Amino acid sequence: MRVVVVGGGIGGLAAARSMWLAGFDVLALEREAAFGEIGGGVQLGPNATRVLRRLGLGAGLDKIGVTPRSFRLLRWANDEVLSDYDLAGDAERRYGSPYYTVYRPELVELLASGLPEGAVRLGASATDVLIGDRNEVRLADRTVEDTDIVVGADGIHSMVRAATLGDGPARYSRMVAYRAILPWEALPAGTEPVLRSWLGPGRHLTCYPVGAGGRYLQLVAVVPEPISSAESWTALGALDDLRTHFDGWSPGVRALLDAVTGPVYRWALYDRDPLPRWSTAGSTLLGDACHPMLPFMAQGAGQALEDAAALAACLRQNTGDPASALTRYEVARQPHTARIQRLSWANNTSFHLADGPEQQLRDEGLARSRTTEALHWLYENDPEHLPD
Ligand SMILES: Cc1cc2nc3c(=O)[nH]c(=O)nc-3n(C[C@H](O)[C@H](O)[C@H](O)COP(=O)(O)OP(=O)(O)OC[C@H]3O[C@@H](n4cnc5c(N)ncnc54)[C@H](O)[C@@H]3O)c2cc1C
Repeated sequence: MRVVVVGGGIGGLAAARSMWLAGFDVLALEREAAFGEIGGGVQLGPNATRVLRRLGLGAGLDKIGVTPRSFRLLRWANDEVLSDYDLAGDAERRYGSPYYTVYRPELVELLASGLPEGAVRLGASATDVLIGDRNEVRLADRTVEDTDIVVGADGIHSMVRAATLGDGPARYSRMVAYRAILPWEALPAGTEPVLRSWLGPGRHLTCYPVGAGGRYLQLVAVVPEPISSAESWTALGALDDLRTHFDGWSPGVRALLDAVTGPVYRWALYDRDPLPRWSTAGSTLLGDACHPMLPFMAQGAGQALEDAAALAACLRQNTGDPASALTRYEVARQPHTARIQRLSWANNTSFHLADGPEQQLRDEGLARSRTTEALHWLYENDPEHLPD
């Protein structure tokens, strides 16, 4: 069976490796001339690291992954700790796989290194997909790839989704994420290797160690912005604007923002409502192409990895009837990812409550929760455990 994957991001590369390990003839097409993931960190819950280990990438992952000691939520005004969950030992003990933060370029390199020669074509922009007696992917250089299955792993503005299922505009959340990477030496003395999020009115700020050996701190500040702009890992933001957004916040937040000297990037946050259908007889979608979500559960990449594993398992178990395999994949994955999309959207409200009774209720709930217990269903999920 031949599978053409459109998109060479985290989801597309993981899909290509999963398909290759399953014995399929796979080609991933990436429109950028070089792997496009620049800068920035990504959190990988145990559900995501489990998939990477099963893809045979565990040793490489251990080299690039950092386990923050704990996950701490703090109050915006005074650094009061609202909750503090163990991450270091807990994830491995409870879920059999670690919680890692990784530097995106290192993760993409790890995924790409796991592919055989010729399985990824860079600078290959797909322009159209035709599903029928023959399935084909057309490229900007006027070449055509014939295939049995097309997998659209081409992100939130997926061409494959538009061509196979129709489309509507993505929803602008009226929030942007400022991102900066700080060398660990630049941080205030005594900074702990902890994943921290300060929650406050209308905005929040998250930071965590990242990069092999924990050499950087990734800072992500989510703030309101009524006017939409493009998502881009390379769009620059102004450091002064970022600092102004956090005027009056706690000493801990101010010290972190004072330590930023390098470039600050700005990413407008979009998502979509859950999509009811992902597949046709010869195509399906994966990752942000079918379930883009706000990053407030830190699960977009993790779910793309799970999709890759589930899709390969479905196709492997039903090579004689790929159309049924694609339906089985969609039925297994859609409700799970839709739930995470909705929770990510809900966190946009709960993270950003103004001080008052609702915020107090939220903080009392956080104080009572001693572990990541409420997320067991998410971290335990085994995407290869498929309903019949
Ligand atoms: C600020 C921020 C923080 C985040 N933090 C986390 C986190 O901590 N944990 C987590 O799990 N997730 C996180 N996410 C979400 C995560 O980044 C995405 O969900 C994930 O990158 C999606 O991967 P993907 O491969 O599906 O899509 P993408 O990363 O969008 O990749 C799509 C790829 O397809 C290529 N492409 C597009 N169109 C074409 C075409 N026509 N032809 C060929 N190639 C094409 C693109 O160039 C790109 O390389 C965060 C997102 C943001 C914005």
